Amino acid sequence: SLSGKNAVVTGSTSGIGLAYARAFAGAGANVVINGFGTPEDIEKERAKIEQDFKVKAIYSSADMTKPAEIAAMIALGEQTFGSVDILVNNAGIQFVSPVEEFPIEKWDQIIAINLSSAFHGIRAAVPGMKKRGWGRIINTASAHSLVASPFKSAYVSAKHGIAGLTKTVALEVATHKITCNCISPGYVWTPLVEKQIPDTMKARNLTREQVINDVLLAAQPTKEFVTSEQVAALALFLCSDDAAQITGTNLSIDGGWTAA
Ligand code: NAD
Repeated sequence: SLSGKNAVVTGSTSGIGLAYARAFAGAGANVVINGFGTPEDIEKERAKIEQDFKVKAIYSSADMTKPAEIAAMIALGEQTFGSVDILVNNAGIQFVSPVEEFPIEKWDQIIAINLSSAFHGIRAAVPGMKKRGWGRIINTASAHSLVASPFKSAYVSAKHGIAGLTKTVALEVATHKITCNCISPGYVWTPLVEKQIPDTMKARNLTREQVINDVLLAAQPTKEFVTSEQVAALALFLCSDDAAQITGTNLSIDGGWTAA
C-alpha cells in the first residue's frame, strides 16, 4: 500500500502518465497531476481520481520546458501534502523528421521536455527524499533508450540520455533508501503514438494501416500494443518494498522489441 505516500507524476493529463497517477491513487497515495489540456478535461480527471480512490489529487500546470516551474511543482507537492515520496518523470513529446530537415526549435523542445525536465524534477525532489530516508524515482524512457529508429533523432537522443541519468542518480542516492529506475515501453496506444502516424505516413510514403502494421507493430514480436495500465502496474511494483533492491535499471516492457 502507498497510503501516507505522495506522488508527483509529470505529463499525467493523458496516456501513460494518467495511468500511473490512477495506479498510485488506487494504492492510496495522494497525487500531483501535471500536463496540458483544457481546464475542464483536467478538472474532470483530477476530480475522478479523488472520487474513485478517496485520496487527494491536485494539479500543477508546470511547463516541463521551464526549470523554475518544475521546481515550483515539487514545492507545491511538498507544501500541500508534506512530502514528495514518489517522482515520476513522464512528460514527453515526439517529432518525426529526417535529421537534415529537423526543426532546430523542435530538437531543443524535445531535449527540454523529454530529458532536462527529469533532471530539474530530480534535483528538486531528492533533498526531501534524503531527509526522510525513502524515495522512488521512476523515469519513463522508451525502447528508444536502447535502440534507434530513423527520423526520431531528438527523441532517441533524449531517451538514451534518460537511461544514463537514471543510472547516475541511482548510484548517488543508493544509500538513502531511494531507488531510481526507468521503464522502457515499446509502442503503447496513446495520443502520442496516434499523433505521429500522419508524419510517419509522409516521411515513409505509407498508408495509415501500413504505418500501424509495418512500422509500429513490426517492431513488436507480440504484434500487440502495450497498454498504459501494464506500464503503470510495473511502476507500482517499483514503489513496493519488494523492489527496494531494484535500482539503476532500465526495465523493458516492449512485447519483445529489444530482444530482436
Ligand atoms: P501522451 O501524449 O498521451 O502524454 C504526454 C503527456 O505529457 C500529456 O499529459 C501532455 O500534456 C504532457 N506534456 C507534453 N508537453 C508538456 C510540457 N511541456 N509540460 C508539461 N507536460 C507536458 O503520451 P504518452 O504516450 O502517454 O507518453 C508518456 C511518456 O511515455 C513519454 O515520455 C513518452 O516518450 C513515453 N513513451 C511512450 C510510448 C508510447 O508508445 N506511447 C512508448 C515509449 C515511451
